[in-house]
Amino acid sequence: RTIVVLFTRDLRVHDNPALASAARAAERVVPLYVADPADNHSHIRETFLAHSIADLRESLRKLGADLLIRQGDRVEQTLRVCQQTRANGVAVMDDFGQRAQAWRDRLRLECERLGAPLREFDSATVLAPGDVVPTGGSDHYKVFTPYWRAWSAARWRDVVETPRRLELPEGLTGTDHRTIWGEREVNQDFPGGEAAALNRSEKWLQTAANYADIHDDLSADATSRLSPYLHFGCISARALAEDEWAPEAMVRQLCWRDFYHQVLAAFPTLATEAYRTANDEWADDPEALQAWQWGKTGVPIVDAGMRQLLQEGWMHNRARLITASFLTKIQGLDWRAGAAWFDRHLLDADEANNYGNWQWTAGTGNDTKPYRRFNPDRQAQRFDPDGVYTNRWLQG
Ligand code: FAD
Repeated sequence: RTIVVLFTRDLRVHDNPALASAARAAERVVPLYVADPADNHSHIRETFLAHSIADLRESLRKLGADLLIRQGDRVEQTLRVCQQTRANGVAVMDDFGQRAQAWRDRLRLECERLGAPLREFDSATVLAPGDVVPTGGSDHYKVFTPYWRAWSAARWRDVVETPRRLELPEGLTGTDHRTIWGEREVNQDFPGGEAAALNRSEKWLQTAANYADIHDDLSADATSRLSPYLHFGCISARALAEDEWAPEAMVRQLCWRDFYHQVLAAFPTLATEAYRTANDEWADDPEALQAWQWGKTGVPIVDAGMRQLLQEGWMHNRARLITASFLTKIQGLDWRAGAAWFDRHLLDADEANNYGNWQWTAGTGNDTKPYRRFNPDRQAQRFDPDGVYTNRWLQG
């Protein structure tokens, strides 16, 4: 038997249920990544991706296999590889959102026709959407605290073992990532890949005991910065949540991540439609929007956050809250425009987390206090009292 493992946002060999299951079920495994232009990655994200793919290929080669990389429509390219390798099945991780569901539906149908059925594996989150549901008939939790309670009490899936050895079908050779992405300099702040992710998490967890006290402190900059790695699946959220060194407050953040994934699975148009339609009315002011985008509002803490985004492709969570609240609640501009800007510039841009958090902040989402508004000056006094963060980015 031959199974194609289609990698998407699970760019790792550790705790990878699709890969582990294929290795158990088939003699030959064909690891495949399809660079689909419809993913529409920014340059900074593509660089991260290119290095993550190169790292994944190295790991697969150490296991005796390799990685095929194809470019084009994900469904067509996967089917082509299935035909070339006479595959008996395709394994892929779960994913949510409108576009992911659309291409999966197509792939499922075409695979069935070809006699190589598609199997999907829970891999993106600690608990998959639907694993815990509220009593009373709803298919997902709308409020975080009861979700956190149920999530903490639930039994999580087992972490799966890395296959010891993989075998490619005869005559098949892998692809160098440079044929698709060219030479890309490593981003020293965020080098892509599983090895970098595991290295970062190991180091960070050793110093994370005080995370609960300082994760909101802007100048301390003490959060894990693992978000791009979690987004591309270079590290398993499930394995991380179980790490004995992981502080509970950080596990709670991973629960927020799961929370938004189950919201997105139930409401796949989260990126464009208000989850809660009341108060989804916004002013139109292109100049104010532009000033916000380029960090030129004149409000120091807001401008600092927006400049961190432009310079680093990442922003501290507290700054994301302040800048998003400023755009929507103070300037009254549409959360969709702000979220689209974040989506374009963030290395960790993630459909569930970005749009879920934007809607939370704008008051159209899952906040139980939708009228909440962060005062930027008071936030700055509280979370950047000496102006260290603000100066760092305004003078940069
Ligand atoms: P840590 O504090 O170390 O937390 C560990 C992990 O928990 C994070 O890597 C992330 O995966 C998860 N996490 C932490 N906070 C949240 C949260 N509020 N919601 C969901 N998951 C969380 N996160 C993204 O991954 N992608 C996005 O596109 C994104 N957009 C956001 C937009 C807005 C307006 C806001 C307010 C938040 C957004 N977040 C997003 C959530 C959060 O800001 C980032 O996950 C966090 O700043 C990443 O830094 P870290 O890895 O150091 O986090």
